[in-house]
Amino acid sequence: MRLTCPLCGERDRREFYYQGAALERPEADDPAAWDSYVHLRENPAGRVRDWWFHEAGCGAWLIVERDTVTHEIYGVELAE
Ligand SMILES: [Zn+2]
Repeated sequence: MRLTCPLCGERDRREFYYQGAALERPEADDPAAWDSYVHLRENPAGRVRDWWFHEAGCGAWLIVERDTVTHEIYGVELAE
């Protein structure tokens, strides 16, 4: 698999560190939502948004939208 870093261009996947699903943080006063956010994860087959770190490159945090079945990359953007 190859990822296109917005700063470095197309690179091999081994330059990147996978950090996990890019989830929305819950509201501060919702303990049940925080429990789910911290402990429960889906394992979807299909389109996902994940955090990746360009460890052997520019050091940027990226959001990668990809398909876990076909390995198609839909987009890579810099994390805010
Ligand atoms: Zn980069």
